[in-house]
Amino acid sequence: MARMLAGEFGSKVPSDPLMLQKLPGVGRKTANVIASVIFRKPVMAVDTHVFRVSARIGLTINAKTPVHAENQLTRNIPPEMLHKAHHWLILHGRYICKARKPLCDQCGLTQICKYYKTISVKYLKS
Ligand code: SF4
Repeated sequence: MARMLAGEFGSKVPSDPLMLQKLPGVGRKTANVIASVIFRKPVMAVDTHVFRVSARIGLTINAKTPVHAENQLTRNIPPEMLHKAHHWLILHGRYICKARKPLCDQCGLTQICKYYKTISVKYLKS
């Protein structure tokens, strides 16, 4: 990787996600994290938290892959907010909207959350 950075990129980490993906070991998610966090590019890195939380809230609809989710999120979130939204979704997924058991009783998004509406309806019907 160091050789490629020195040889092809003039010893500078590229800010373009497509260029970053040319580096060995750098996939789409990692490239988007670097582009977003370091260079504030309007891209969204979709990890397991971002994928799950976006689907539960309803920010993505029927996204089957991280790339589908990424496309929907980048279309619907204002570009200048994307790098922040990435962190919001990750942290929300890590601490509140947990994979196995979301802590909906501690969540401030119940009014807008698609998943919460479905479990509320089920609870009211039972
Ligand atoms: S209400 Fe529940 S499912 Fe919806 S975002 Fe909050 S924790 Fe996640």
